[in-house]
Amino acid sequence: MTKTLLDALKERPLLGDGAMGTQLMIAGLEQGNSGEVWNLTHPDRVLAIQRRYVEAGSDCLLTNTFGGSRIMLNRHGHAEDVTAINAAAVIIAREAFGNRGGYVIGDIGPFGGLMEPYGEFTEAQVLDAFREQAKALVDAGADAIIIETQTSLEELRLGLTAAREAGAACVIGSMAYDVTLDGSTFRTMMGVDPERAAEFMQEHGADVVALNCGTGMDMERARQAVERYKRATDLPVMAQPNAGLPKLIDMKVVYDETPEQMVQGVAPLLDVGVGIIGACCGSSPDHIRAFRGAIDQYLTTRGRL
Ligand SMILES: [Zn+2]
Repeated sequence: MTKTLLDALKERPLLGDGAMGTQLMIAGLEQGNSGEVWNLTHPDRVLAIQRRYVEAGSDCLLTNTFGGSRIMLNRHGHAEDVTAINAAAVIIAREAFGNRGGYVIGDIGPFGGLMEPYGEFTEAQVLDAFREQAKALVDAGADAIIIETQTSLEELRLGLTAAREAGAACVIGSMAYDVTLDGSTFRTMMGVDPERAAEFMQEHGADVVALNCGTGMDMERARQAVERYKRATDLPVMAQPNAGLPKLIDMKVVYDETPEQMVQGVAPLLDVGVGIIGACCGSSPDHIRAFRGAIDQYLTTRGRL
């Protein structure tokens, strides 16, 4: 791919991918085990999932490294494999694109704990863990880094700093919002609203502001979040909502928003100027295929394809 991700975004909206976690479960990963270790032990299964997203039309793939920081991998006894696991993930995603080409976005999720004074981790430990992971992803050739499912500006800042220092060509900050109990608005668990998040991300060197996951953040809420981001910043915006709300059925978490339902929200997201559309928990290659159709139709009717 000759154009950088940021240059491509100037020309047209791009399609991201769908869930990795729920797809890994379908492929046999047991609850509580590390899906990231599969980059080394079952690369074929990770590749098969990402190939399905590419076949569905994804322009961008997130690496299978959500829990790929030293702090997260340490819980599974794999702290020494940080670099190998993250490098393998970039290579697998690149391979999934094959000759078609596409953008590999190195994924960094939350470190999974609390920092002092609320928790046991120091800021320096978390920053070091993000630095190590970001460097492994960039050195292996990731086109961008996304710091995702963030709820606090403190942790987000450490992730953005690490990605910048690693030399990422594009840095994406992505917040997880929850709809408030009265349904009137949404903010992160730590009380951050989209305007504040967008300003903060711009101040701290993000190239793209994003939202993903969250609670009650359906396609319409994602559209509202994109609108609010757009009022607070000129940066491109990325949205990856969940496939509806999780429901517990037979002791299994099930997301029940179908591709047919979710795809209704694609054109409204494009109307408010979203740059990258993907989907988070519970979404599948079928959702992404439906999104591809809707994006192409939208662009064709406007003479942009
Ligand atoms: Zn999610």
